[in-house]
Amino acid sequence: MKKLGQLYEGKAKKVFATDDPTLVIVEYKDDATAFNGLKKGTIAGKGVINNRMTNYLMRMLEKNGVPTHFVEELSDRETLVKRVHIVPLEVIVRNVAAGSLSKRLGLAEGTRLSRVVLEYCYKDDELGDPMVNEYHIAAMGWADDATMKRIAELAMKINDLLCRYFKGINVDLIDFKLEFGITADGQLVLADEISPDTCRFWDSTTHEKLDKDRFRRDLGGVEEAYQEISTRLMGE
Ligand code: UDP
Repeated sequence: MKKLGQLYEGKAKKVFATDDPTLVIVEYKDDATAFNGLKKGTIAGKGVINNRMTNYLMRMLEKNGVPTHFVEELSDRETLVKRVHIVPLEVIVRNVAAGSLSKRLGLAEGTRLSRVVLEYCYKDDELGDPMVNEYHIAAMGWADDATMKRIAELAMKINDLLCRYFKGINVDLIDFKLEFGITADGQLVLADEISPDTCRFWDSTTHEKLDKDRFRRDLGGVEEAYQEISTRLMGE
């Protein structure tokens, strides 16, 4: 597989073309941003951890019947994935109140939700990724009703599988963000990443944060937290 020119550079990853038009290579960076790009920094070793962890979890999900864009891990920071059209939504899955939900509804962080909550945000940095509902999504033509039904089903299934998996390493999955894509042949697949950048992980016993909130909130021990969750999940 030949790595060709860069197609896109995002906040945490770069995407490169390959000699196969149906495949691209993602390269994970150590760059970290928060608050819609207002806070910038680097987290040493993050790219390697996020690459390996995403691929590990995508393989687990595939085994359990969740279609993903994952094809092959190429190196510490590079992975071959299916080229997709990204559905321009951040799909947020919540088990426990935290972050923006706690703020919006005045719920103490750590309040268990009696049912899983799904939220959608329109992916647009200039607008600050505004929250939208299924009516907005249909009216704007970002995804059709059948696609949204399937996205919700997959998000719930992914949540069940991830919660069970993380429970096994004494971690509570508080909330996380997913992105979906559509391949050239029309298949809806899980895309993007599943990592401490995109999930909230709390130690089940101590409730210590093992995710990007350590960077967002200047809690210290950022690199150590990424390493800890990585080691618990995949070993040294
Ligand atoms: N999230 C993300 N990217 C975003 C916004 C949120 O990966 O642009 C993740 C975040 O890490 C958390 C979940 O989605 O696990 C819910 O985030 P929330 O809406 O609480 O926003 P935040 O408090 O992170 O601004």
